[in-house]
Amino acid sequence: MEPPAASETVIQGIAASRGIAYGQVFLYLQSELEIPRYTVDPDKRAAEVARFEQALVVTRQQITQIQAQVTKNLGEEEALIFDAHQMVLEDQALIGETIRDFQKTGLNIETCFNAVAQRYIQAFAEIDDEYLRERAADIKDVAKRVLHALLGQSAQTLMALVDQRVIVAADISPSEAAGIDRSAALAIVTDAGSRTSHAVIVARSMKIPAVVGADRLTTLVRNGDWVIVDGYDGVVIVNPTEQTLFRYGKIQQDKQSFETRLMSVNELPAETLDGVAVTLRANIEKPDEVALVKQYRAAGIGLYRTEFLFLSSEKTPTEEEQYAAYREIVAGLAPAPVTIRTLDVGGDKPFPGDPHLIGPEANPFLGFRAIRMCLEYPDLFKCQLRAILRASAHGTVELMYPMISGVEELDRANAVLEEAKAELRARGQAFDPKLRVGTMIEIPSAALAGDLLAEKSDFFSIGTNDLIQYLLAIDRGNNRIAHLYDPSHPAVLRVLRLIVETGHARQRKVSVCGEMAGDSFYVPLLLGLGVDELSMTPTLLPSVKFLVRAMKMSDARKLAEEALRQTDPRRTTALIEAFYNERVKMG
Ligand code: PEP
Ligand code: MG
Repeated sequence: MEPPAASETVIQGIAASRGIAYGQVFLYLQSELEIPRYTVDPDKRAAEVARFEQALVVTRQQITQIQAQVTKNLGEEEALIFDAHQMVLEDQALIGETIRDFQKTGLNIETCFNAVAQRYIQAFAEIDDEYLRERAADIKDVAKRVLHALLGQSAQTLMALVDQRVIVAADISPSEAAGIDRSAALAIVTDAGSRTSHAVIVARSMKIPAVVGADRLTTLVRNGDWVIVDGYDGVVIVNPTEQTLFRYGKIQQDKQSFETRLMSVNELPAETLDGVAVTLRANIEKPDEVALVKQYRAAGIGLYRTEFLFLSSEKTPTEEEQYAAYREIVAGLAPAPVTIRTLDVGGDKPFPGDPHLIGPEANPFLGFRAIRMCLEYPDLFKCQLRAILRASAHGTVELMYPMISGVEELDRANAVLEEAKAELRARGQAFDPKLRVGTMIEIPSAALAGDLLAEKSDFFSIGTNDLIQYLLAIDRGNNRIAHLYDPSHPAVLRVLRLIVETGHARQRKVSVCGEMAGDSFYVPLLLGLGVDELSMTPTLLPSVKFLVRAMKMSDARKLAEEALRQTDPRRTTALIEAFYNERVKMG
């Protein structure tokens, strides 16, 4: 390990969410615990048992504290899970067995407790009963806390983060990111990750500045160090000098006045200088973001990532719970359209409700993800489809399937949808009979089979995050190769054009809902290629609208034509940059 940085150190990472923050570090380390193994002298055994009991008391207090914090931040229902955690701590079988093992072997209490806990976790995990299987996750969580207490380490959680701090972590999972208290986190910096990792998308929607790919920052800083996080340029400055602070104060002011300038178009129509109206919609992860969708005047929702409802709860949400969440969004925005995407877990989004449904995989992004998983578990899928259909009675819903690779999958998904409709009819429950059903184009095979898919889809929505990842074979979460993730690559441009052409040949609307749509740099290119609609994180809408209002569609078309003729992506980037800079000047 390297010594902590004493003087100013500048780390270059990847800019992931705009904004500048200055604050103290909260180091969030999720490393695996190392458990020592030794024999306890016979005369110290009573003290060892007392040490165990003390650790249980400390853990109980910790959980009570976190429970209060979560109740305050997220509400009582979210905090209920901690009741189950307290019950684990009171489980006489677990505790009794640990003490018996200890008396029999004389091995230190951490070793005995860990062995017993692992046996329980394994046993519960294999039971064919959903409720009991969930207990495995509870025991795992609590066991980790008890072991931390025994080893004299504090088990940190992002939930327990109370002060205004900059979170520095090796990586953050999407569900951890979703649990961050927006008012407590000044910024997020991770060693790993890329611009399109899901945790970053969540940070962007919460308007928290973020830098990812800040290689080994976690080994350079300590809790309490002061850092500047520059989410515009992807820079982290540890222990900045007075001069740097002064310089950043000035930069922050300039950026703020730039943001104010962008916001000046918020109430104005998204229309180009030559009079072409552009539809700008919002991407959301949670129902409470409807307020942001309205604040930034989006023309509805182009992507609702429903999986976050599943990620933020320990249990798979029931049909009623899903229906309530979907209806809240749909009714809240009616008559504006809401595109609800069916469950897209797997990849970098595990399935906490039932981790065994997916299980460990060598290549999760190429694995059992999204529609592939849903088609294997039709009951789970149909339950979601019924909830979406029921919500469609309260406004304008469009439904779309993620990760479709070809027509056969689309047919199977639509067959389940028909079954869901029939079940609702039998129950006498209302839904919109004219519900439009679209396909996400985010796998190269879907792009190449676009003509076949267009026959059976009401619209296309291009998921550029995955499409580029699969087209260029770049893991979207891997910072070592993040620089190779290039939307200007000729192959990307050609595929985008192909998708637009095949969609339009059958009069299908083609939208883009990947991160490229919210990057004003690439917006003229997408529009020039013929994309009909853009959907993005709500907070990015003003910057995109600003550019739309500053450009002519005829110029964007010329830009796209010229970009398609380029052989070197660097030249394409330069063209796009020049187009952008001529129309949007900083300052
Ligand atoms: C995409 O892949 O571009 C997309 C919008 O879906 P997600 O980022 O949720 O995978
Ligand atoms: Mg995707």
